[in-house]
Amino acid sequence: MEETIFTKIRDGKIPSVKLYEDEECFVIMDINPIVKGHSLVIAAKPYRNIGECPQETLDHMMAIAKKLDSKLREELNCDGTNILINNDPASGQEVPHLHIHVIPRFLNDGRSFGFAHDRYEDGEMARLGERLRLG
Ligand code: AMP
Repeated sequence: MEETIFTKIRDGKIPSVKLYEDEECFVIMDINPIVKGHSLVIAAKPYRNIGECPQETLDHMMAIAKKLDSKLREELNCDGTNILINNDPASGQEVPHLHIHVIPRFLNDGRSFGFAHDRYEDGEMARLGERLRLG
């Protein structure tokens, strides 16, 4: 597997503020936070996306994200969090090494993802739903 900026951080070759580490994942503070306290739950191995990541590892990473959510609420008194994965470059992923962003949010903090929205034609959503139904 390839070396990434996160494998270098994992191995201590690049400094970071590390909040947690185990065999499956580690947690660091994001160097360019959307809101202070923004942290990343990073897979120990450099899977590029969730498709490459074993289900148990992903489940474990989400359990750690949940703990981090609680910690951010306790320590920062934030009102909520954004928990998200940019999954491949088309979605805005810059570091090709699976990680979950956990971003503390405060009511009226003024942050916005600013997504534009698509609009369905008549019947289009139902037709697409037929194709997207999970087995
Ligand atoms: P993504 O666009 O989902 O791949 O997010 C990558 C994240 O990694 C960004 O939020 C960056 O600010 C963060 N990042 C990049 N380099 C470092 C670093 N050396 N230490 C901490 N966070 C970093």
